[in-house]
Amino acid sequence: LELRAVPLRFDDTGDVHFLVVVRDVTRTEVLDRVRRDFVANVSHELKTPLTTMKGFLETLLDGAIEEPDQARHFTQIVFEQTERLERIVDDLLVLTRLDSATDQPLERQQVKASALIQGAIEQCQLAAERKNMTLKAEIVTDPDLDVNPRLFQMAIVNLIDNAIKYSDPGKTITVRVEMQDKEILFSVIDEGWGIESRHLPRIFERFYCVDPGRSRELGGTGLGLSIVKHVAQVHGGYVTVTSEVGRGSTFTIHLPK
Ligand code: ADP
Repeated sequence: LELRAVPLRFDDTGDVHFLVVVRDVTRTEVLDRVRRDFVANVSHELKTPLTTMKGFLETLLDGAIEEPDQARHFTQIVFEQTERLERIVDDLLVLTRLDSATDQPLERQQVKASALIQGAIEQCQLAAERKNMTLKAEIVTDPDLDVNPRLFQMAIVNLIDNAIKYSDPGKTITVRVEMQDKEILFSVIDEGWGIESRHLPRIFERFYCVDPGRSRELGGTGLGLSIVKHVAQVHGGYVTVTSEVGRGSTFTIHLPK
C-alpha cells in the first residue's frame, strides 16, 4: 500500500487536517518486477551463448583457423551456440505471440484429438528412437476439439520432448487422451527421473530449470513449460503435474469440454 498525506489547513484550534490517499500498488509493482526480472533473464540467456561464440571466434582469428582440426571443432561449437540462440529466440517469439493472443480471439479449427496426438508423436519419433524409447498413444476417447491445432500440438510436443530429455534410455512414454467430468485430459506420462516436490511450484516459470547445466546440455531453454501453460490458458484450460523422484512424471493439460 502506498500512503500519502497532504496537510490541508490549520484551523483556529491548531488542529491539522490531512488528506490521506491510500493506493494499492501491489499489482503494478509486481508486474514491474516480473517485467524487470524477465528482461534480465532474457539478457542473461542470450549473453551466455554469445560470450562462448565470441571466445571461439577470437581463438579462430588468432590462428586456430589455420589448423584444420581445431578450425572444424571450434566452428562446430559456434554453430551449436547459434542453434541455441535460435531456439531461445523462437521460444520467446511464441511466448510473445501467446501474450498478445490473450487479447484476441484464437484461430480455432475442428480437429480430432487422436490426430493431434499422432502428429505430436510423429514429430518426436526421431528423438525418441535416438534414446531407444517408445512413444505410445492411448486414445481412451477421441473427441472433436475446437483448438488452434498448431499451438496445441506444440504444447504436447514440448511435454513429450521433456519426457524424452529427462528419462533414461529405453523407457516408454504414454500420451493419453480421456474425458473426465467436464474436461478433456491430455496426459504425457513418463518413467523418467521425476522432479522433487519443492521444484514443482516453479517449473512453469519462464527460464526456470531444476538443473540449469543439465538442461543446457540437453538443449533446453527453460521456456518449454511456460509455453505449455500459456497454450492451455489461451484455450481456457490449465496444466497440472504429479511427479515422483526416480519413478516418473505425469503432465496433464485440462481443456473444458
Ligand atoms: P527446459 O528447457 O529446461 O526443459 P522446461 O520449461 O521445459 O525447460 O522445464 C523446466 C524444468 O522442469 C526442466 O529444467 C526440468 O528440470 C523439469 N522437467 C520438465 N519436464 C520434466 C519431466 N518430464 N521429467 C523431469 N523433469 C522435468
